[in-house]
Amino acid sequence: KRILITGGTGFIGHVLCRELLARDYELTVFSRQPAETVKSSCGRVEAIRDLQQLRSHPGYDAVINLAGEGIADKRWSESRKQELRDSRIGVTETLVEVIRSWDQAPNVVVSGSAVGFYGDQGSATVTESTSPNDEFTHRLCRDWENAAKPLGDDGVRLCFSRTGVVAGPDGGFLERMLLPFKLALGGRLGSGTQYMPWVHRDDVVSALIWMMENPDASGPYNVVSPNPVTNAEFTRSLGRVLHRPTLFPAPAPVLKVALGEMARLLLTGQRAIPEKLVSQQFQFRYPDLDQALTQSVAPGAAG
Ligand code: NDP
Repeated sequence: KRILITGGTGFIGHVLCRELLARDYELTVFSRQPAETVKSSCGRVEAIRDLQQLRSHPGYDAVINLAGEGIADKRWSESRKQELRDSRIGVTETLVEVIRSWDQAPNVVVSGSAVGFYGDQGSATVTESTSPNDEFTHRLCRDWENAAKPLGDDGVRLCFSRTGVVAGPDGGFLERMLLPFKLALGGRLGSGTQYMPWVHRDDVVSALIWMMENPDASGPYNVVSPNPVTNAEFTRSLGRVLHRPTLFPAPAPVLKVALGEMARLLLTGQRAIPEKLVSQQFQFRYPDLDQALTQSVAPGAAG
């Protein structure tokens, strides 16, 4: 079976590619990088630099769409917000046009989204049917999901991964947090009462494949662990795993000055639970935060 992937070189995508190759899928990865770079991170895949190359293609069995500029890589100026939108909504719109030119539509499209869809939800439990609060991350994720929806009208099965904060080795948000923690300068962010809907990368990869392979899966899925924790609990767990104290909170006003509007990513959150994945019997490999973090900061030590 053949799969087209966007975002296949990323922190989540390259592990997804390697897992799919191990399961004998044939992969084409859309990437702006040279083919050698794509192959060195993803494995034996076909690399394409322009989605338009796939216009009037015979078709793929499935498409997994994860491309997007890093949400926490730069301050959210108006031009950065536009890049965050174009790299998701623009890529998805092009993908939809290209897919509609194929001889045969794919059976399924699994498209990216994030728990930011819900906006700040305080300590309320957040399921896939929770009403979102309007803010930048909500509009970004809503429009990203909506961009793929014309395919649903064509009869393609559509799933959306409303992904939480992904922990795994070598990259992602955890890598950025590690240095102060290792120097014993770590601590909670702001009050620490905001929820962090964390999830281990291996579970994200399994959930994406599960959505793709399970003919009954459709619509949005919260791809988060069943055990969301507050930032203060997350901080204590990371300190435990690293055997370091966590005595230095980063005050909210300092984060707001340093990061501008982007500080909302750190200071607000969602107590999101994977209601649909759990009710549909998806099995998490890392439901426990200490184990997930141990595996992430010292691979081989857990799991
Ligand atoms: P990475 O930042 O590691 O990778 C991003 C991927 O998107 C790369 O493969 C890159 O491809 C591609 N990309 C970036 N900008 C563009 C662009 N302008 N045009 C085309 N492709 C682009 O992301 P992750 O693997 O961490 O995440 C994958 C998706 O999941 C992202 O969209 C992210 O927003 C979402 N997500 C991630 C979370 C996390 O904690 N990691 C949490 C919630 C959602 P290349 O450079 O090869 O062209």
